[in-house]
Amino acid sequence: MPEGPEVECTRRYLHPLIGKTVKKIQLTELSQKYPKYAGKQQDFYWFDGQQLIDIERSGKFLIWRFDGEKVILNHLGMSGKWILLKKNNQSLTSHAKALIYFEKQPHAIFDDIRNFGQFKIFESYKIVLKYDPIRKMGIDGLAKPFPMDEFLLRFNKPNYASKEIGAVLVDQKLVAGMGNIYKAESLALAKINPTRLVKTLTKKERKELGLAISKTLWKAVDCNGSTFSTFQIPTGQEGSAQHWHKVYGKHGEACQDCGTEIIRIVQNGRSTFFCSECQK
Ligand SMILES: [Zn+2]
Repeated sequence: MPEGPEVECTRRYLHPLIGKTVKKIQLTELSQKYPKYAGKQQDFYWFDGQQLIDIERSGKFLIWRFDGEKVILNHLGMSGKWILLKKNNQSLTSHAKALIYFEKQPHAIFDDIRNFGQFKIFESYKIVLKYDPIRKMGIDGLAKPFPMDEFLLRFNKPNYASKEIGAVLVDQKLVAGMGNIYKAESLALAKINPTRLVKTLTKKERKELGLAISKTLWKAVDCNGSTFSTFQIPTGQEGSAQHWHKVYGKHGEACQDCGTEIIRIVQNGRSTFFCSECQK
């Protein structure tokens, strides 16, 4: 699933679209099979002739901004990706849900195999900022410098104290953009066992975790994210961050640092991977 780094890479590679004028935004025939898109085509006609002025990232969301008031909130879900179409006759991807045709190429396709993504109009930027998943978001794990004070503050929330750190760390209200992959890798880098209760973590460990989060997320951005099955940046290339993962998806393999077998457990219904020797 695309996490903050994959969404950030997507945003960066969509940059050539900024300043371009929209000819038409089209929802595909396939998308009309799903209630969230069905019957919505006419609402997208408003964007004809609009100039795209920015694509912002907020956690795992992209906010498409135009010179008029309306915005499009876009989430890549489990399998979403954007592809830039360089030629008019280039064929569409088989899971295309939406297309943005600009007056000049490249055009852009939103492809989403598993259909958990979001491509939704909001009446204004102000209104989208009030949308709960955006409004309640925690620190941006990719913020530079890493907002350590606010991270420590949010971490202190009483409702986290008796929960396991591996379960808490994917809460978007703590670190926006964090998901299962980089949670496991950040905890491995900070040498913290994911089953530890938050209240048992010392201030030093919390700080180390904050630094590990920042380092891990940025290293992933530098590698164009992680690709396990579907993720691609808009140029069609796959990410390569999976090549340096220490623990994610490596259960049954030997830890690179100590040789102990990496184990997989389930926390809150989601897999967590770690080395019980290196992570205490
Ligand atoms: Zn180890």
